[in-house]
Amino acid sequence: MIDAHIHLEKGSYCFDWIWEFVRAAEAREVDEIWFLEHTHCFRECGCLYGEMSRFNAYQHDWFQRKQASARPIEEYLRFAERARRECFPVRLRFGLEVCYSPEHEREIANLRQYPLDFLVGSIHFIDGWAFSHKRQPWRLDGAELERLYRRYYGLMLRLARSGLFSGLAHPNSLQCFGASPPGNFDREYDEIALALHEHQMYVEESSGLAVNYGDRELGMNRRMLRAMLKRGVTVLTASDAHIPRDTGSRFREMCALLEETRLACLLTQTSD
Ligand SMILES: [Zn+2]
Ligand SMILES: [Zn+2]
Repeated sequence: MIDAHIHLEKGSYCFDWIWEFVRAAEAREVDEIWFLEHTHCFRECGCLYGEMSRFNAYQHDWFQRKQASARPIEEYLRFAERARRECFPVRLRFGLEVCYSPEHEREIANLRQYPLDFLVGSIHFIDGWAFSHKRQPWRLDGAELERLYRRYYGLMLRLARSGLFSGLAHPNSLQCFGASPPGNFDREYDEIALALHEHQMYVEESSGLAVNYGDRELGMNRRMLRAMLKRGVTVLTASDAHIPRDTGSRFREMCALLEETRLACLLTQTSD
């Protein structure tokens, strides 16, 4: 099993910290872990945050704090290089979790120069609004929520079509405060799945929302997951762990769900 989404940012760049995640992975029979860092951790990536930091005072302060503690990306690259030469009992990869906004595709393209194994794209902002911050929870319903989801999936489609990324992170993150997609979005799911497949991108089946926000749904909603499987998109399990004990969290349940959905897809295809 792979855990395709693990953050190092709560520790320092040393092998002891890596070993804590490696041991947690072994305990859950995960044999490959993909480390990544948020782009906001690095000085070179500050240009991606103009709209979000101007959106309101809370987000402005949040970004100022992140910028104040941002490191040069070179530190991460050097650490990744050293770790690749070291022997660990699970396979390691190193990448970046990039906050995607369509306005910044040129700056994001620049990140491809770095010697990393992958770039995963995330929708963390909708037109500057950082919807998943626990300090500014929200609750919407009705037409407003439907409009929001249309915009969210529209951005996801642009991300997939941009050709800039190896994968799409946590496509369920707008559910962070419990607002599930209202109505039927099968057409959007199919368009996103088709674009991911065309660009040979993977999609994360992420337990992060369930673990970090207590979301009642584990991973993608079934309709979205079915769309991904029908289009042959590679689905990778991911925890979004920020601490070692969350590595591989709830993967057994997610794998069972994946198998069940895969089987259901096969059965409907053969009966068509
Ligand atoms: Zn994220
Ligand atoms: Zn993450």
